[in-house]
Amino acid sequence: MDRKIYLDNASTTYISNEVLNEMMPCFSSIYGNANSIHSFGRDAQAMVDRARDKIAKAINANALELYFTSGGTEANNWAIKGIARANKERGRHIIVSKIEHESILQSCKELEKEGFEVTYLNVDNEGLVKIAELLHYIRKDTILVSIMAVNNEIGTIQNIKTIASIAHDNGAIFHTDAVQAIGNLKIDVEDMGIDAMTINAHKIYGPKGIGALYVKKGINIEPLIVGGNQERNRRGGTLNVPSIVGFGKALEIASRDLVANVQKLKTIRDYFVKNVMEKIEYVKYNGHPYQKVNNIVNLSFDLVEGEAVAMMLDLEGIAVSTGAACESGGVEPSHVILALENDENMARSAVRFSFSKSTTKDDIDYVVETLVKVIARLRSISAVTKTGRAK
Ligand SMILES: *Cc1c(COP(=O)(O)O)cnc(C)c1O
Repeated sequence: MDRKIYLDNASTTYISNEVLNEMMPCFSSIYGNANSIHSFGRDAQAMVDRARDKIAKAINANALELYFTSGGTEANNWAIKGIARANKERGRHIIVSKIEHESILQSCKELEKEGFEVTYLNVDNEGLVKIAELLHYIRKDTILVSIMAVNNEIGTIQNIKTIASIAHDNGAIFHTDAVQAIGNLKIDVEDMGIDAMTINAHKIYGPKGIGALYVKKGINIEPLIVGGNQERNRRGGTLNVPSIVGFGKALEIASRDLVANVQKLKTIRDYFVKNVMEKIEYVKYNGHPYQKVNNIVNLSFDLVEGEAVAMMLDLEGIAVSTGAACESGGVEPSHVILALENDENMARSAVRFSFSKSTTKDDIDYVVETLVKVIARLRSISAVTKTGRAK
């Protein structure tokens, strides 16, 4: 059986041909340093400017409010540390949720060592940040609230507009990690009240190693990477021109095709969930029933380990993941599924299936057929098979 099906698109996607074609000249003919004043540099700079404009347009920002980074991780580190450090005279309290990406959570841990205080908000069992808790914990010295727009493990969409307005009512800056939102939702930084926002390219059919931080004009932020005057003195380092160009193209396409992709993915997702629920017993759906993106499904298969499911599916050519990609391989259950007020067994048995715009019903048929066999096999070797804890 040499069939290969990739259902780990929330970890990274392939690069689409349209994006690749746009990038290619930047590896050969247009190789100047975008910072150089000669014609080679100016040509590269023109490519960067064009990409910056595309990204700005897609999120309704001004191009000069965008700063390129090495990806989502760097942008999140920068947003949290840079905003906190630049605003520490106003206060030292920060609010994030318990289900943020590790790049947010670990940046907060570093800030705690510098004397900042961080509140980690709970989520309800569908993955939504508890607004009542936010209202309870926010205070006069809260300088920053950072809540992700869409969670990467369960796909739940947060009430960003409400959260941003609560932050602003209390004088705090609002940052969101929108890596999993772009391409799935219309993001308008003005309308949503976003002061700073993390995005990247490799989850939307663009290249890895490139991202951006949107920083609204007037927001104070300290640089994280120093050593060059690039990005208006806010982020040092020679610009990654091919990747920036690919990022611009990828987001342009994602915006252009948004409605069609959302519909396509909804059909695939619904077909997958319906079939799994019909054919496999004791499966729990993790996340929100409808306030969610369509490319991610997270399921807990009672009485089996998610890691075992992922490994057995891999033997059949099917790629899925447990937890986030950066956490896979570890033995700890997902911090996100644990935060859904679930028990540890449910977290350990969680598997994430994430689809691309190219996933077909035929792919799903093969995956479900294989999954039925894999779950049956794993449960048959589990001593407690007949007790069935889920549902
Ligand atoms: C992938 C991801 C990141 C990290 O982005 P990189 O570009 O891989 O560093 C951050 N936040 C979320 C929600 C993600 O899914």
